[in-house]
Amino acid sequence: SESGNNCYRVVLIGEHGVGKSSLANIFAGVHDSIDSDCEVLGEDTYERTLMVDGESATIILLDMWDNKREGEWIRDHCMQVGDAYLIVYSITDRASFEKASELRIQLRRARQKEDIPIILVGNKSDLVRCREVSVAEGRACAVVFDCKFIETSAAVQHNVKELFEGIVRQVRLRKDSK
Ligand code: GDP
Ligand code: MG
Repeated sequence: SESGNNCYRVVLIGEHGVGKSSLANIFAGVHDSIDSDCEVLGEDTYERTLMVDGESATIILLDMWDNKREGEWIRDHCMQVGDAYLIVYSITDRASFEKASELRIQLRRARQKEDIPIILVGNKSDLVRCREVSVAEGRACAVVFDCKFIETSAAVQHNVKELFEGIVRQVRLRKDSK
């Protein structure tokens, strides 16, 4: 799907409770009263323009993966509409890490011939004492699944800006090579 010039639809997917909405809220800047650049398009869609490497990019961030009210079709929808994906797990929850692999496979199946930019996101990196998934495991998984990897903490806002800049760079890399 093509969302127009420098405007990318980025979809958050991953197990319930891993921190997708917390990451989305930081993106939306609800904790940042100075910056009012974000437009809330719906209760789970956010739009924001970022400067990345001296060039502006607009991200439309979708956080509707866990929306049970809308039924199961929303997940099929999510798998189809993204220009890029953030597959999120919690470093404190091995099951969510295994789920991330499953989602990577599902995504590959749904978008077979496309080279879709993905970042595997190990969130809750602040919870060092509860860690169940090592950095090395996360990194190795990303190699197998041919995507980027980052650990973040929505709680202490570590690497969250880098995450959204990173996904813009991944989309650009693929556009430039076409
Ligand atoms: P979602 O179901 O994937 O949208 O997850 P939420 O964003 O609703 O987060 C689930 C719970 O984890 C909430 O209680 C959050 O406050 C907490 N949480 C989210 N991100 C972090 C993080 O980076 N560190 C810590 N310690 N807690 C987090
Ligand atoms: Mg949520």
